[in-house]
Amino acid sequence: MTIRAFLFAVLIVATAAPRAQTLPDLGDAASASLSETQERTIGNRIMREVRVDPAYVDDPEVNDYVNALGQRLLLTADPPPRTMDFFVVQDDSINAFAMPGGHIGVHTGLITLTQNESELAGVVAHEISHILQRHAARMAHGQRGAQLTSLAALALAMLASRGGGNQSGQVTEAAIASAGALSIQNQLDYTREHEREADRVGLTLLDRAGFDTRGMASFFERLLRSNRLNEFQGAPSYLRTHPLTTERIAAIQDRIQQLPPHLVPDSFEYRITRAKLRATAGSASEAVNLFRTMLEDKTVVRPREDVFGLALALRRTRDFEAAWKTLEPLRQGASYPSFELLAAQLAADMGRGDESVAIYRAAIRNYGNYRALLYPYFEQLVLMGRDKEAVAELDERLRTLPEDWHLYDIQARAYDHLGRTISQHRALAEAYFRKGNLSAAVDQLEIAVKSKGSDFYEVSSAESRLRELRAQLEIQKAAEKALNIS
Ligand SMILES: [Zn+2]
Repeated sequence: MTIRAFLFAVLIVATAAPRAQTLPDLGDAASASLSETQERTIGNRIMREVRVDPAYVDDPEVNDYVNALGQRLLLTADPPPRTMDFFVVQDDSINAFAMPGGHIGVHTGLITLTQNESELAGVVAHEISHILQRHAARMAHGQRGAQLTSLAALALAMLASRGGGNQSGQVTEAAIASAGALSIQNQLDYTREHEREADRVGLTLLDRAGFDTRGMASFFERLLRSNRLNEFQGAPSYLRTHPLTTERIAAIQDRIQQLPPHLVPDSFEYRITRAKLRATAGSASEAVNLFRTMLEDKTVVRPREDVFGLALALRRTRDFEAAWKTLEPLRQGASYPSFELLAAQLAADMGRGDESVAIYRAAIRNYGNYRALLYPYFEQLVLMGRDKEAVAELDERLRTLPEDWHLYDIQARAYDHLGRTISQHRALAEAYFRKGNLSAAVDQLEIAVKSKGSDFYEVSSAESRLRELRAQLEIQKAAEKALNIS
């Protein structure tokens, strides 16, 4: 099953969940509708799986960008909603969707096919508005709580069967078919009334956040036109859940006339993110051709993000020399963290480890805690066997970034190389804990306290952490059991 099909099944559960105002009765889930706490429990459970799915884009630059964009729109909502977080799914189709607990997914296809940042912001704002207006919950009004809960159980059972290679994928497909989960997807299609409302609220967010409101109209227009011409392979999935008509576009345009115009340039972060995703789509040679074509007639001003995209694509073809030469002019004068990252990676690709480390260090000095530089830098140190340095520097970083699981993950590898078993498992436990996987964290701590050759202080510190996480795990298990998703 593709991540999209799966998430769609989850979406049914997610958005159909009415939010109770009172504390949830976890002991009697069958008769209750999903409360906010229950929704969060399911959401965390699902995100745990989504994060390890190959389609989940675990690129800190891309991730930080969509989150910044989402937060910028959310902050203008009145009243500001509870927190939401945004993530990117590697999928060429155009889509954006919401999951329980305020997790919003955006397809790479949506980002790469937008012509400017306001278009992307327009679709994200529209999607956020569906959640703010609780459209799905209103549609689900009248549905029995028991039904919703069993849907949650079904979605999570499917999820649990994933991740075991092809075979479990087939099992999952069968499970969907037999449960008829997809047959109820029609219930989730937003009505035209909901679309009009989401457009209206979305335009307000877009306007207040300072984007060009015309972006929403232009993207939807193009989507509708391309769909008629069958140009976008992935468009129908979005159009099925969000019915789009010429009347709707006309209504959006009417409203835009009443709003003050904003002429805003695209942020460089948007341009870099889009170039990066375009450079990773399709085959490596296709990506090289795409950027070469884009740059062909631009002899006077070559957009820096397109040159960067070409360098990225060339790296994919393993022509590191050519990638380096393409990138070099961009690094002269005003460089950018993404350019330095690519330079450091290319130096390592060409076997120039020390140079790579030097580039990373200079860039980190300039750009501080820029996550996209930190992870590959520490990985490079570990790769070169400079584990002691890595451990010490990671300790230093973790003081300012204590919630970053990536750092613990890399530190665990360095400890492993150094033969420091108890520290290795403790670091792994902290990484799992921050990824929301409590039971794996407890497992690691159990291994840690049993490992030999550790000093008293290390063992007792691991033991107290183990007691703490075991208690948290009990609470989580009780919540999941009540929801039938453990
Ligand atoms: Zn919609």
